[in-house]
Amino acid sequence: MARLAINGGEKLRAAPFPAYAVIGKEEEDAAVRVLRSGVLSKFLGCWDADFFGGNEVQSLERDWAAHFGAKYAIAVNSNSSGLICALGALNVGPGDQVIVSPYSMSISASAPLFYGAVPVFADIEDETFCLDPVQVRRKITSKTKAIISVSIFGHPHHSAEMKRISDEFRIPVIEDCAQAPGARDGDKLAGNLGDLGVFSLNYHKHIHSGEGGIIVTNDENLATRCRLIRNHAEAVVDGMAYTGSPVNMVGYNFRMTELEAAIAREQLKKLDALLDERIRNVEYLESRLRDFTFLHLPRKRQGCKHVYYVHGIKYEHTVLDVHRDRFVEAVRAELPDTELRLGEGALISGGYVRPLYLQSLYQRKIAFGGDGYPFNLHDDLNYSKGLCPVAERMHESEFFGHELMTPGMKTEDLDVVVAAFSKVADNVNELR
Ligand SMILES: *Cc1c(COP(=O)(O)O)cnc(C)c1O
Repeated sequence: MARLAINGGEKLRAAPFPAYAVIGKEEEDAAVRVLRSGVLSKFLGCWDADFFGGNEVQSLERDWAAHFGAKYAIAVNSNSSGLICALGALNVGPGDQVIVSPYSMSISASAPLFYGAVPVFADIEDETFCLDPVQVRRKITSKTKAIISVSIFGHPHHSAEMKRISDEFRIPVIEDCAQAPGARDGDKLAGNLGDLGVFSLNYHKHIHSGEGGIIVTNDENLATRCRLIRNHAEAVVDGMAYTGSPVNMVGYNFRMTELEAAIAREQLKKLDALLDERIRNVEYLESRLRDFTFLHLPRKRQGCKHVYYVHGIKYEHTVLDVHRDRFVEAVRAELPDTELRLGEGALISGGYVRPLYLQSLYQRKIAFGGDGYPFNLHDDLNYSKGLCPVAERMHESEFFGHELMTPGMKTEDLDVVVAAFSKVADNVNELR
């Protein structure tokens, strides 16, 4: 019997897996075009024709809106800025509560704090890991001003139920679709599954421009308010004779550069082909992983398209009688790093994030100043352990995710991934 690599045996493969390399000649040409123009950003933070940015930014916004079937797209410098912008546009402010997921990147929960509102955590669904609409309903109070619902790992959030809740209580929904460009629920693409959708163009996402984000919406007023917040609203509203609500019209500089926009335009053209290859790789892996009874492969809600930012799998520890962490570490030890991400180890790990309410920010309730603002405006906040049992269980013992299906991975590479699961399962006694 082969000794497991985690116990000093030989790894199944040492040579790195191929990179997820999405930047090519097209992006290079686009970047050079902008560099040669000498205009790396064209925004002016006052009321002027250039208030809306340069040609590349505005072209990206047109391309993005058309591709995702939204009326308006607003380019910003990150998804994080985009979430803050969207909350500001919705008039969120001190004393308000925003329902969020505990199982996401930190900003999906912390964004409300920037407008003096607080996050209220609702638990996630056991199958899609997105916010559970049943749990969301339980968290609604007269103070609830918005919901940030994350289409996590590439699976669309439960948009039909969220819409029902949104209509019934008149609470707008922001969809954080950083991980789900091209995902679909019925005939609607992610981004359109709430009142505003926010994408990310960060280096680690399906397509990227280094850093960047895009907000989409069909609401003209919200689009205008996002554009104002993006670019120094306070310095602009008089000049443009803005007649909307003055609330939250203190702006930021969330502007995207021409360079990023030009690169993002080329990336968008590649998105669909990249998604196809990613999905094909997942299908191949699943056809071979299906035989492992201790793995529970991700299920899609009916009518949904999953775009697998992460291939998220649940681990049934009773079958092998080994904890998930030990199992996943053993698989990880058999596999190589991935080119462009050398030093990170194999791109597979257990648990995803610790439920966000357990971060010290929420445990200590210190955000701005030393008095606990804005948490101290509420006496009904609960950030204690046990709050979201599904998210806690996923983190502690059930969930693991990997990125070993990115385009560039060939059948022979995917076979190594499957072989690692087999080798560990066959030699699981070494882990006990
Ligand atoms: C990456 C990510 C973000 C943050 O995106 P940035 O563009 O890096 O600010 C937010 N939410 C989710 C779900 C993400 O995956």
